[in-house]
This record gives sequence, structure tokens and C-alpha cells, in this order.
Amino acid sequence: MKIEHIGIAVKHLSTSIPLFEKLLNTPCYKTEAVESELVNTAFFKTGESKVELVEGYSPESPIYKFIEKKGEGIHHIAFEVEDIDAEIKRLVNEGFTLINEVPKQGADNKLVCFLHPKFTNGVLIELVMEKK
Ligand code: ZN
Repeated sequence: MKIEHIGIAVKHLSTSIPLFEKLLNTPCYKTEAVESELVNTAFFKTGESKVELVEGYSPESPIYKFIEKKGEGIHHIAFEVEDIDAEIKRLVNEGFTLINEVPKQGADNKLVCFLHPKFTNGVLIELVMEKK
């Protein structure tokens, strides 16, 4: 439907939140821990879309590993979908590999799943559906 948010991997939310508040000229409106990913997140509204800063809080977190390998930077692009189960089915039929085929609880009251970047030109894609 639209780009729901862009996820940016950061080492420290404590310094990146004020940085992005200055950059975007808008306050961070929400911070939230996502236990399933071992991350803390911070959200900014940018028109129709959002920017999500993601910080790993454990060495086991995928974000922690991402930063160790590649440094800070754009981590994923999230597209909003109307029916996440139908979309997962469609993508699997098209030959894509998903990291999780069963949607899981994400930040911001969303169900989410991720496509394996190996099959999407190196871009980690997240699908998000608002929980009703
Ligand atoms: Zn995200």
C-alpha cells in the first residue's frame, strides 16, 4: 500500500533520537522495546511514512550483529499490506524466501514478517499489517 517506514540501525538511541529530532524537525513520538527481536525502537512521523530507529540491546539481537558487520545505516524498508497472510502466500508462490512465514508481533501494534535479503537484491524487506 505504501512505504510504512524505513528502519535505521543505530548503536545508541540515546544519541540518535536527538540527532533525528534535529534532522527531521519533529519529536520522537514513541519508543518501544520489541522482545522478539531484542531491540529498542524509536519512531518519527515523516508525512505518510515513518522513520524507525532500531538499537539492539543484546549481542544476540539481529541489529547488534548487523552493525558489527556493516556499521550503522539503513537496515530495512517496511511496506504496509492489507492482508499479511495473503501477501505471504503470494510471495512464497512467487519463489521468495521469508525469514518468518508466520507473522509475529512487531513494534507499533503491527504484525510483521521479513523477506530474506538474499532474494531481494540485498534489501531486507518487512511487511507490516496494522493489528485490528
Ligand atoms: Zn521495521
